[in-house]
Amino acid sequence: MPEACLFCRIVRKKIPAKVALESSQALAFYDINPQAPVHILVVPKTHIENAMAVGPEHAGALYEVLMLAQEAAKKEGISKSGFRLVFNNGPDAGQAVAHLHLHVLGKRKLGWPPG
Ligand code: AMP
Ligand code: ZN
Repeated sequence: MPEACLFCRIVRKKIPAKVALESSQALAFYDINPQAPVHILVVPKTHIENAMAVGPEHAGALYEVLMLAQEAAKKEGISKSGFRLVFNNGPDAGQAVAHLHLHVLGKRKLGWPPG
C-alpha cells in the first residue's frame, strides 16, 4: 500500500473519515464533498489504482465493495428509490484519487447523460 495514497491512509485510520460500513476487505465512508444527499465512497482495503488495474486476484475485494454498496443503499433508504454507482477511471472521467473507489449517489433524481 503506497504510504502517500489518501484512501490507503483512510483505510489504515491515519486520516479520519466518517465510516459508514466496514468489512474485512472493504470500507465505506462518506464523501467529504457530497454531490447528492447520499454520497458514499466504497473502497477495497488493498490498493488498486483504478478499474484498469483490477485482476482476478481482486475478486473477493471487489465482491465486498459491491456488498457494502448494497448495504449502504439499504442503510440510507435508497435501495428501492434508486441510486447510481460510479467508478471514475482516468483523466477524462475526472478521477482525482488513484485508489479504486465506487461512488454511491442517491436521494435525488440523477440526470442522464452524466456531465
Ligand atoms: P474521483 O473524482 O472519482 O477520484 O473522486 C474522489 C472523491 O474523493 C471526491 O468525490 C472527493 O470529494 C472525495 N474525497 C477526497 N478526499 C476525501 C476525504 N479525505 N474524505 C472523503 N472523501 C474524500
Ligand atoms: Zn491506496
